[in-house]
Amino acid sequence: MADVQMADAETFAFQAEINQLLSLIINTFYSNKEIFLRELISNASDALDKIRFESLTDKSKLDAQPELFIRLVPDKANKTLSIIDSGIGMTKADLVNNLGTIARSGTKEFMEALQAGADVSMIGQFGVGFYSAYLVAEKVIVTTKHNDDEQYIWESQAGGSFTVTRDTSGEQLGRGTKITLFLKEDQLEYLEERRIKDLVKKHSEFISYPIYLWTEKTTEKEISDDEDDEPKKEEEGDVEEVDEEKEKDSKKKKKIKEVSHEWQLINKQKPIWLRKPEEITKEEYASFYKSLTNDWEDHLAVKHFSVEGQLEFKAILFVPKRAPFDLFDTRKKPNNIKLYVRRVFIMDNCEEIIPEYLSFVKGVVDSDDLPLNISRETLQQNKILKVIRKNIVKKCIEMFNEIAENKDDYNKFYEAFSKNLKLGIHEDSQNRAKLADLLRYHSTKSGDEMTSLKDYVTRMKEGQKDIYYITGESKKAVENSPFLDEYAVGQLKEYEGKKLVSATKEGLKLDDETEEEKKKKEEKKKSFEDLCKVIKDILGDKVEKVVVSDRIVDSPCCLVTGEYGWTANMERIMKAQALRDNSMAGYMSSKKTMEINPDNGIMEELRKRAEADKNDKSVKDLVLLLFETALLTSGFSLDDPNTFAARIHRMLKLGLSIDEDETGGDDADIPALEEDGAEESKMEEVD
Ligand code: ADP
Ligand code: MG
Repeated sequence: MADVQMADAETFAFQAEINQLLSLIINTFYSNKEIFLRELISNASDALDKIRFESLTDKSKLDAQPELFIRLVPDKANKTLSIIDSGIGMTKADLVNNLGTIARSGTKEFMEALQAGADVSMIGQFGVGFYSAYLVAEKVIVTTKHNDDEQYIWESQAGGSFTVTRDTSGEQLGRGTKITLFLKEDQLEYLEERRIKDLVKKHSEFISYPIYLWTEKTTEKEISDDEDDEPKKEEEGDVEEVDEEKEKDSKKKKKIKEVSHEWQLINKQKPIWLRKPEEITKEEYASFYKSLTNDWEDHLAVKHFSVEGQLEFKAILFVPKRAPFDLFDTRKKPNNIKLYVRRVFIMDNCEEIIPEYLSFVKGVVDSDDLPLNISRETLQQNKILKVIRKNIVKKCIEMFNEIAENKDDYNKFYEAFSKNLKLGIHEDSQNRAKLADLLRYHSTKSGDEMTSLKDYVTRMKEGQKDIYYITGESKKAVENSPFLDEYAVGQLKEYEGKKLVSATKEGLKLDDETEEEKKKKEEKKKSFEDLCKVIKDILGDKVEKVVVSDRIVDSPCCLVTGEYGWTANMERIMKAQALRDNSMAGYMSSKKTMEINPDNGIMEELRKRAEADKNDKSVKDLVLLLFETALLTSGFSLDDPNTFAARIHRMLKLGLSIDEDETGGDDADIPALEEDGAEESKMEEVD
């Protein structure tokens, strides 16, 4: 054991966030500490995957250690537990970078999640699973050998720093990594065989490499007094001398206790996808899913199938319950479908096997037809892979439709992944129609529920030619806006022969109005024209014009874009894309028209005040506030949220000393385009 600090140790400081994470792990009480083993075994398995993949094109990479394994060694005398793998190992640079100086994007997110009450078992999903070692260990030593470097030792008791040293102890790994945990006094349960076996069964059952546990066997053996009591050596085990006290006893009784060790295989590795679906329980799928994804929750849906005929492959696909925190993080390589060829793991970020918009689907694909030595380059042109991909997309859509059979499940699914479906409609012309069937929207008739376009079409009034849509102003417009509708609907244009017409673009007219209604409206409109001027003066260049609304809304005002301009969502998408170049954002943002609602109580009050005194300070404040609120509710983003907040605060202060129903309008008789938006709009009427 390289416990002794070598003279040439180099000391490194943990990167600040990692250091924070370590303190959190060490100083906070988490009951679920056992997950450390799953994390370390999963890292070992990843490292084995890597070397196996490299060896497919260069067999000599395995020379230093031909066997691929994971070994667990509990050492009661030293109170250490070691996890050893013959994986790819780490070079010195890998050690320094991967274990301490370069923070992963998930470091901060994980700490935030923890502080928000998340379970520590989520650590693996955030890409910082290694540090879970400190849940149970006060000191960790990592000894590692990569084919391209010497053997190195990483050591740390947390506390801000770690050391890296050339390993001159003479203990040769050949290739791979050994992680030695110096267990805290109250964590010695992880030295017990039973506990380790149970944990492996529970969390690491589907690891596809053999996991061996170094087990101890005690056998009693009778010997004669003068017989030499040197015990026989077992194959791979060694033998501990029985301690002196007992030895004396046993001599009297002519019995000795013989302690032998052996490697015991503690996981079965028959891949679950080779088994018959009807023989696999839901629990087994769940536990496979968790081991595959590091998820702490069960999957939402699973599809286990095999394709036979000209081309043969087996696959299990899963839909998670939630979107991962970095679903749209473009820095992250997709890492969702593991590709196997005839049971041999090939790679886990095979981009060719599933389109990007389905990157939330997890699973395994095991092909009988692909060559074992397939390289990334040849993957791209591979015809077999193209067919596999087509089948996978088909099965995914089938799976989504199965989810749709259960309303609650589908709501969950839709909340998490509707963005992906919309991306799919944009990208995948072949499956556009099928994906469109999966979309759900709030409509004026669907109440609290969402409706599919199919249902909408069957409910359309006679004579209604088009499907009207509003993007962005959904029920929880601001926090939960369907960013991608614009992209999706833009491509969709039609559904079953019905045109999709944006209701947020200028000039929408709902044509079934009586003459009398029209006349009444005109009169009301007129009375608000002065207010429009006042508002335009106050807002200046922020809006192109201010008009009295023709369309039917129940909020005091809204912002719309020109017929050919971008809608709010598009502006946001463009802004996000233009972030690199800020000057572009201003240039590209759309010219907005503010439409005010003459039937709204706030507007009526505003009209009165402006009439009484054009320069009323409260009018200016209210107008700006209404504008900013309309920006938000119409789906635009605020350029300066702080000023907005300051204004709100001022109004709140004011509000605390004025009558509550001063602006309480009565808009009950306004027919709402978004009936279910009525409740939200009440909230806008902040007095
Ligand atoms: P993740 O596994 O999500 O990448 P971890 O915190 O678990 O995050 O591990 C960090 C990194 O440390 C890994 O990505 C890998 O590069 C390296 N690493 C950890 N354990 C091993 C191991 N047993 N063999 C080789 N590299 C390892
Ligand atoms: Mg890991």
